[in-house]
Amino acid sequence: MRTEQDETSEPLFLTSGFVYDSAEQAEATFQGATTHWVYSRFGNPTVASLERRLAALEGAEACRMTATGMAAVHAALLCHLRAGDRVVASRALFGSCHWIVSTLLPRYGISICFVDGGDLEQWRGALSSPAALVLLETPSNPMLDLVDLPAVAALAHEAGALVVVDNVFATPLLQRPLELGADVVVYSCTKHMDGQGRVLGGAVLGRQRWVEEELQPFLRNTGPALSPFNAWVILKGLETLKLRVDAMSKSAEELAMHLEAHPAVGAVRYPFLASHPQVNLARAQMRGGGTLVTFTLRGGKEAAFRFCDALRLVDISNNLGDARSLITHPATTTHFRVGPEERRRLGIEDGTLRLSVGLEDVEDLREDLDRGLAAAGVA
Ligand SMILES: *Cc1c(COP(=O)(O)O)cnc(C)c1O
Repeated sequence: MRTEQDETSEPLFLTSGFVYDSAEQAEATFQGATTHWVYSRFGNPTVASLERRLAALEGAEACRMTATGMAAVHAALLCHLRAGDRVVASRALFGSCHWIVSTLLPRYGISICFVDGGDLEQWRGALSSPAALVLLETPSNPMLDLVDLPAVAALAHEAGALVVVDNVFATPLLQRPLELGADVVVYSCTKHMDGQGRVLGGAVLGRQRWVEEELQPFLRNTGPALSPFNAWVILKGLETLKLRVDAMSKSAEELAMHLEAHPAVGAVRYPFLASHPQVNLARAQMRGGGTLVTFTLRGGKEAAFRFCDALRLVDISNNLGDARSLITHPATTTHFRVGPEERRRLGIEDGTLRLSVGLEDVEDLREDLDRGLAAAGVA
């Protein structure tokens, strides 16, 4: 958007409220007879500008921003669900998404059923009885397992479910869930959209009617509003999203192949590598493999720690999608709480590392990974 000042950059309306010319205008605004900004919890021009851009990027009818990615997931689920409903979800979910489904929803009389996201027979079984909502993540954190979006969406719709997809790992550039059958897409804008490690943010995208009738009243009254300042930062991030995601994905694919060739590495997971068990599905529903590479070192936790501690360019951090390359050891950080049994089910081993590839020169990154591999040693 552009104001009468003809600025080049997006204007920032850092204001909580708005004023009215007259008592009559205030009355008309509240009665819906005229449109006027009311309060930034309900809507804000900078936030609305971001909502329009994200909707256009995703090919969605409508978008609403939230303060964090988790607020987006929480709102998308809770605005739609009622006591007595049934939810089917893939097991490999971001930690807090898993907590909402497994711990929070049952408190409100919602029953849940987890399935292995890659197993269509399990989806078919779970969706042979009616369900209100399906939640899934593809590719998943951290093992980059995929869910067949068109197949699961068809089964979900037969069961009467709204299909909600957490598309953080793929970004709107590499995967378009709405075109593949999903009803709602959620994002943590903290990741690739800001992409420079500055702010938290979230987004929910879907049909106009659902957004206006179900999501909007929930957001207005529960208040997980995105700060206009953070919206402005994310708007600036979006201007370079494609350049960053394309460059980071290209480096990620190169580094995945490099790691796969090394004897200290037991297994590499990257959606577009020929060795990925679902590579055909990846090529069918994604336009690129993404910016994350997950690999397992043969020497277990000790080798993984030696690897991380030897790195000079890549930082140890649980964030992802950043312009700086970041590495995390899921078993002792993001997936510490789920326990060893669930980790085994998800394929997370003690030697598993998740690398979020940034914008550094790929040769420098390769050299840094080689430094880590030398320190890890061959078990
Ligand atoms: C980070 C993340 C979230 C949560 O987003 P926040 O902005 O941290 O609240 C949800 N899902 C996935 C897949 C994520 O990576």
